[in-house]
Amino acid sequence: MKECIFCRIVAGEIPAKMVHQDDEVVAFRDASPKAPVHLLLVPRRHIASLDDVQPADAALLGRLLIAAKELAAGEGVGGAYRLVTNCGSTAGQSVFHLHVHLLGGRPMGWPPG
Ligand code: 5GP
Ligand code: ZN
Repeated sequence: MKECIFCRIVAGEIPAKMVHQDDEVVAFRDASPKAPVHLLLVPRRHIASLDDVQPADAALLGRLLIAAKELAAGEGVGGAYRLVTNCGSTAGQSVFHLHVHLLGGRPMGWPPG
């Protein structure tokens, strides 16, 4: 997807502060962090949102969550972090390439806004 900003980050066409790259998952720091630790975990493959995943993507979704757990530990926020996936503009999604926000380093309110 040439016009997708996260596809372009995955391809190295747009710079980002990378924190993890493997064959399926890429993670980088959010350009507008909402917490001291704010990472974005994305699949390399373009999937627009969680509504677009298929049963065959189950392992990929697992990889995203396992990577999140490991990155949280590496960032020093193990046991004290939040994962968020906004699905659809009404829920706050602004980039339509599936991503998981990893937020940590400050207390988190509930419910989210
Ligand atoms: P959403 O609103 O779709 O849930 O989250 C998109 C996130 O991507 C936002 O937190 C926003 O700050 C981040 N973002 C948008 N464009 C860029 C970019 O070019 N680089 C990085 N690192 N983050 C971005
Ligand atoms: Zn994309």
